[in-house]
Amino acid sequence: MELRRKISVIVPCFNEEESLETFNKTLLQFLPGNYDYEVIYVNDGSRDNTFQVILNLAKDNQHIKYISFSRNFGHQNALKAGYDFASGDCAISLDADLQHPPAVIPELIARWEEGFEIVNTIRADHDSISYTKKLSSGIFYQIMRKLSDVNIENGMADFRLIDKKVLKQLKLFSENYLFFRGIIPWMGFRQAIVPFKANERFAGTTKYTFKKMLKFATSGVTSFSVKPLRLSIYLGFMFAFLAFMYGLYATYAFLFTDQAVTGWTSVILSVLFVGGINLLMLGIIGEYLGKLFIENKRRPNYLISETNLIE
Ligand code: UDP
Ligand code: MG
Repeated sequence: MELRRKISVIVPCFNEEESLETFNKTLLQFLPGNYDYEVIYVNDGSRDNTFQVILNLAKDNQHIKYISFSRNFGHQNALKAGYDFASGDCAISLDADLQHPPAVIPELIARWEEGFEIVNTIRADHDSISYTKKLSSGIFYQIMRKLSDVNIENGMADFRLIDKKVLKQLKLFSENYLFFRGIIPWMGFRQAIVPFKANERFAGTTKYTFKKMLKFATSGVTSFSVKPLRLSIYLGFMFAFLAFMYGLYATYAFLFTDQAVTGWTSVILSVLFVGGINLLMLGIIGEYLGKLFIENKRRPNYLISETNLIE
């Protein structure tokens, strides 16, 4: 008898008590029957009954595994935990709110069976995604592509399939500022892209507040690029050049004309402007320095309080 291949499904959950039962039912319905499977629910420090719901699901089905964090460690770290513990021949990650339709899973598997080692998905935008979300994510991907050398497609989602070969490599990544949407395209391997139509959130509200999104975006940029650090070099050259030209003019005005005026406006403007730029550049350097500081501690990405994956 041929051994059945196993699919690991990874689902990060943060306050998803209302979605999970429906999600689980829908998911199981779309997992092809000719594979063995496990579903790993990662409870990312939910403050509602999410964990209870997961425990109930696990009671009825031995394929359902859970990892519960000691507090909220964030979506990317929840994904990392899933990747760390996944034991399948491939791992599929998707959101618990049904925005990543499980109906697309058979297609991801089909591409994997064709030989692709990473199957990405991109969100084909439509009306259920708010205008501001579309705009902010559009700007974000644009900046990411400009600043880093990683080609992240617009609307790339954390809904993807990766082969166990890739999974093994991914386990070696222990950086604290994880940004899988950048890491995955960076990794190489044979990659495919499947577009999908995002659904409206099934229940609850988005867990990505504007603040979290901004943090995610800066972390995304600074994890993949040191180009912002170079900005001060370019600006420095530019201002040195301008200052030189202005100096020539000022000397000329002083020596050869009687127009060497008491220039309060020009002095105050240049002092404030250059001061502002200085602070900005210091801030950018500080951002990287802070990251170095945190990364250097080598703290674990997450702490597990309960799981049925380790006996
Ligand atoms: N999530 C998480 N930890 C967090 C924030 C979100 O595990 O700190 C999970 C959340 O439960 C969901 C997925 O990550 O399954 C995506 O979050 P959400 O749907 O809120 O983001 P959006 O789709 O609005 O970008
Ligand atoms: Mg969502």
